[in-house]
Amino acid sequence: MPVIKWRNFIGQERIKGVLESALQTDTIGHAYLFCGAWGTGKFAAAVELAMALLCEDSECRPCYECDSCRKILHFAHPCLHIIMPMVFEKEHKSGEGLTAAGWDLLSTSVRQRIAEPYKQQNLTGLPSIPLEWVREVNHAILRGVVDNRRNIVIIDGIDSMQKGAANAMLKTLEEPPAGTLMLLLTERIHAVLPTIVSRCQILRFAYLAPELLRSQLITRFSLKPDDHRLEEVIYTGSLGQALYLLENSDEQIIKDAYEFWNLTAGQNWLAISEMIDTLCAINNDSLYEKMFLHIMRLLRNAFFRNIEGTENYIMGDRSLTMELKQIKSPDQLELLAQLCEKAIKQVRSRVNISLVLVNFAISAMEILNGQKQ
Ligand SMILES: [Zn+2]
Repeated sequence: MPVIKWRNFIGQERIKGVLESALQTDTIGHAYLFCGAWGTGKFAAAVELAMALLCEDSECRPCYECDSCRKILHFAHPCLHIIMPMVFEKEHKSGEGLTAAGWDLLSTSVRQRIAEPYKQQNLTGLPSIPLEWVREVNHAILRGVVDNRRNIVIIDGIDSMQKGAANAMLKTLEEPPAGTLMLLLTERIHAVLPTIVSRCQILRFAYLAPELLRSQLITRFSLKPDDHRLEEVIYTGSLGQALYLLENSDEQIIKDAYEFWNLTAGQNWLAISEMIDTLCAINNDSLYEKMFLHIMRLLRNAFFRNIEGTENYIMGDRSLTMELKQIKSPDQLELLAQLCEKAIKQVRSRVNISLVLVNFAISAMEILNGQKQ
């Protein structure tokens, strides 16, 4: 077997080791579940693994130049199938199915994601996976492999699949046709059907080290080494999140995030409700989403900064004065992060923003007061 050389998949040395040794010994399983936070490299890993398996170069794979590699980069390889959650607008759907514009959007989005696997799509609503897409991929797998090769399926957001779609896939997962490799990706392993989890080999993606993020942002994304924004994003542990924050680091949003959190932690209801009124008047979903993302980042930064040995993290960042005194454990921090994620999801589902903010404040206070485990 040729040497494996990862190009877009960064860090995650342990996972690389597992995959490389399976490739070298020809013992790749038939189903893997990649789990880990958004932007830690699950999609990049899945695409490059598929490329390595289908590449035609005899020395070093993936070569990015052979016919097979090129087809994958254009999302036009008959042996690689990709499904991922997407936001579809009215013009993309008709009845239960997708329109021609819908299928167009789908292939353009997948191509973009292959080219920039760490970059989040611009989401303007709640992403979903159309049943039709799943059915089509399922049929392609069941038809079997071409020319003795493999059929590789990447499904991102396996946890967000609707029941009907999941059931269609489950049968394939139970009795995969020979030569099938399923790569299932999730940020929330606890939300994946146990019957799916039990049929996969699980690979857990770790948070990326700050120094790795720093060097990647400088070498690949042309940030200057003395760019002050680096310090604010390299502790997110996620290249995807770092890139997103760099593109969306409007000073006013960070200020709002900081203030809303500190009022919540201080349980200052009068000030909270005044701020909610002000925020609601802005009426901008993407701003609300960013605000919750910044709250999550500021809290993580502030919390980890208080742990011995990490004092030098995030200097000069606003997280220095985040109200933290009641957060006692990483578990509590995790609950708060989940609360932010829930709020973001509600914003995307267009839940009334005033309700989202009030519920967030109440639940956060319960967590801080130890009423929620
Ligand atoms: Zn190749």
